[in-house]
Amino acid sequence: MKRVIGIYSAPRQHWVGDGFPVRSLFSYQTHGRALSPFLLLDRAGPAHFEPADHARGVGEHPHRGFETVTIVYEGGVAHRDSSGGGGAIGPGDVQWMTAGAGIVHEEFHAESFGKRGGEFEMAQLWVNLPAKDKKTPARYQHLAKDNITVVPLADDAGHARIIAGRFGSADGAAETFTELNVWDIVLNSGAGADLDVPASHNLMLVVLRGEVRINGGQSVQASQMATFERESGSVKVEAVGGEAKILLLSGVPIDEPVVGYGPFVMNTEAEIAEVMNEFRSGKFGAV
Ligand code: MN
Repeated sequence: MKRVIGIYSAPRQHWVGDGFPVRSLFSYQTHGRALSPFLLLDRAGPAHFEPADHARGVGEHPHRGFETVTIVYEGGVAHRDSSGGGGAIGPGDVQWMTAGAGIVHEEFHAESFGKRGGEFEMAQLWVNLPAKDKKTPARYQHLAKDNITVVPLADDAGHARIIAGRFGSADGAAETFTELNVWDIVLNSGAGADLDVPASHNLMLVVLRGEVRINGGQSVQASQMATFERESGSVKVEAVGGEAKILLLSGVPIDEPVVGYGPFVMNTEAEIAEVMNEFRSGKFGAV
């Protein structure tokens, strides 16, 4: 059985633009390489929005050197970018955006959701790229809800949506640069599951809703994350006192230095300075 290293609570909420009330479940700034290949996880909502006649969200901003994965649970997100691309991400959909060499984009509530208002809930995960792939051309993978394999858990315990990686014989929907798993799991009230990832992976379990008990012992509640030793064996999770929604994130760590500044994540200070120069001189383009 994989042992828990620590259980961490998200700091209090902050706003990203006027559309995303966010709690940061983890960041490379605070947790460092223990999270690699993952860099950051922001969870927006759940929150209720009244109908609005203007688009709420964040205007154009750049990214380079990593990938952003936007998982929409409720509501909708619209995006546009410097390559002329754009679209909407609806409930159950995932957008896997490789910023790579650089992109400028904007992220707003989808127009129909903004006008109607209602419940909004999403998560955005940042996934690092190895140095050799940091300048790969930017691209999107739109992972529509219907194209994400749903695996029933044993003993009717719930299900796992395999956004990336592999679960038993099921392949994840996303193509990734390094070996990793992103499983979006619902555990029925009182039910449990043994989750197995390779000993070579860093492993985090993030609770989005409800409460789970880990390995028959420690409790992890909504907006908390548990990290685990890199060792063989599985992790037992049980939903306590109601349904639980969790994200399992695991992957082979990228053993390289991480130097980030805002929306840029590279390997050295010199590369960050170079990115800033390129961005200021307009080389990233505009939406
Ligand atoms: Mn962005």
